[in-house]
Amino acid sequence: MRLQQKLPVSYLLFTYNGRISKGAYWLASVFYWSAFYVLFNLLWFAINPASTFILYPILFWAMFCTSVKRLHDQNRSGYWLLAAFIPVLGVLWLVFLLGFKRGNMVANHYGAVPGSAPDYFKNDNGRQIPHLKTNERIIDDVTHLNPVVVNNVLRPVTVEELCLIVQNTHTPISVGGGRFSMGGQTASPDSTHIDMRGLNQIISFGAEEKLIKVQAGIRWCDIQQYIDGYDLSVKIMQTYANFTVGGALSVNAHGRYIGMGPVALSVRSVDVVLANGTLVNASLTHNREIFLGVIGGYNAIGIIALAELELAQNVAIKRTSLKMKVEDYKDYFFKQVRNNGKAVFHNGDIYPPHYKRARAVTWEETDEKPTVKTRLMPLKESYPVERYFLWAFTQTPLGKWRREFIIDPLLFRSKRIHWRNYEAGYDVAELEPKSRENSTYVLLEYFVPVQRFNEFEASMTEIFKRYNVNVLNVSIRHALADPGTYLAWAREEVFAFVVYYKQQTSPAAKNKVATWTRELADAVIAVNGAYYLPYQVHATVAQFHQAYPNAHQLFELKARLDPDYKFRNILWDTYYKPYIKTNNHG
Ligand SMILES: Cc1cc2nc3c(=O)[nH]c(=O)nc-3n(C[C@H](O)[C@H](O)[C@H](O)COP(=O)(O)OP(=O)(O)OC[C@H]3O[C@@H](n4cnc5c(N)ncnc54)[C@H](O)[C@@H]3O)c2cc1C
Repeated sequence: MRLQQKLPVSYLLFTYNGRISKGAYWLASVFYWSAFYVLFNLLWFAINPASTFILYPILFWAMFCTSVKRLHDQNRSGYWLLAAFIPVLGVLWLVFLLGFKRGNMVANHYGAVPGSAPDYFKNDNGRQIPHLKTNERIIDDVTHLNPVVVNNVLRPVTVEELCLIVQNTHTPISVGGGRFSMGGQTASPDSTHIDMRGLNQIISFGAEEKLIKVQAGIRWCDIQQYIDGYDLSVKIMQTYANFTVGGALSVNAHGRYIGMGPVALSVRSVDVVLANGTLVNASLTHNREIFLGVIGGYNAIGIIALAELELAQNVAIKRTSLKMKVEDYKDYFFKQVRNNGKAVFHNGDIYPPHYKRARAVTWEETDEKPTVKTRLMPLKESYPVERYFLWAFTQTPLGKWRREFIIDPLLFRSKRIHWRNYEAGYDVAELEPKSRENSTYVLLEYFVPVQRFNEFEASMTEIFKRYNVNVLNVSIRHALADPGTYLAWAREEVFAFVVYYKQQTSPAAKNKVATWTRELADAVIAVNGAYYLPYQVHATVAQFHQAYPNAHQLFELKARLDPDYKFRNILWDTYYKPYIKTNNHG
């Protein structure tokens, strides 16, 4: 892909590796036939007719290369060109293949779909510090708000290697997966940072049992590609598929699923590397306290090396949507969605800046044929339309009004039927702005007991309006209660309010965000809810313990299993360090 972008003409005309689309083939044909015509006449009249022979090898090579790449686009080898030797029918068949037949919609033996990204968006491997030739690296997350300098970065590729690293490292260790958490949860100053993305293998898979065992650095998108052919789906994951399984389990993530909740509900067991380097297996029935501490535990007590996960059937799903007053949403959800056995995904989007109306979007299982051609979400090289809308909705006068009254009504008019795997395959790249230098987009999330939806919604709206927060969207999700993890954010059935907003990156702007997010933390604590921990670490120590009343159980376990405070990150530097001091540990 990179070669294609840097050398478009030479790639297009003179190399036969890779794929080109129908459009590119026509463009190339027009180009080389026009060039041939001009040069032919030039040589014929300016020199002599014989001199035109020099053009033929170039023309035939360009025809050959573009044709082979076009055949590759349909997953056919270049040998199909031999069909040209079959009089009439062979030639007609080739003309159809080269000029008219659509290419494969997914990656094939010869490469990715032309114009698509080769892979999901990834964070770097740790940036070098400019002008310093040491092993130190800057570990930052997707917002670019939380750079932390670590001693070195290690990337194990086997579980044994991971155990040895932990056993032989006597300095602090921090752990990162995809590094999409947004508050330094993956790094601590001067730590050895373990990048888990090298541990990305599938260990075992049972289509009948609907179970998969994976190394924890694998991403959801990789699992989807593997199981899609068996008509299976991940049971619970986030909306975007870029995240690693280890990172998702460590925050106890959730998606937009109906009748489900925290990912803990779909984890059979995990193999965890403890601070002394030993590997233990844990589940709800075996080494239970380790299981309850490691799922949603942000690497407090150990590194998840392997995870056994339950899968679900991949089904076709159809979208319906309805706009309503925000105060009517809860009743609508309980009447129409919560017990609807056909509903697979659901979310409600509250429209800023007035927060008075919401659009409920439900994806229900259907027997109808999908309206999209691919079973998995195709990756795009760039998302100019999405980028434009992100900018327009947050920066232009009436941007939010246009979204609510023009863009969304148009978008939701069309009939959409996807595969479940398709709808669970979004790429974070679609949210990337041109630059995050002066302003950036950030997430926040609040979990509210279902009966207290309206109470929290009113407090949230008041805070957003008072601080003039530039909110792009508030997405409502639903989750059943957690099986009992120590840092459970769903201690009972909850609604999640997922807030996507834009903030400036200056110190003053960051302080302002800290102020209003503490007010939001108070508001959610007042309704016996919790704020989500993968985001900016602004809540006070007292707020943390109010929102997570069982954190002390995790901390007691950590003090026992990790007495030297080996596993750390900004989250634990903020909330566990004070616990060590007051309890004389370490
Ligand atoms: C655009 C966007 C959309 C999101 N949507 C959702 C959503 O719909 N639902 C939701 O619940 N969350 C959502 N999140 C939050 C996301 O789930 C978390 O940030 C998650 O941790 C990302 O996974 P990761 O692999 O990037 O983890 P990282 O950010 O790399 O790590 C997160 C935490 O897990 C720890 N960790 C990582 N790997 C391991 C391991 N193998 N063993 C032990 N600890 C480990 C890290 O130390 C860190 O504390 C979203 C985030 C973004 C940026």
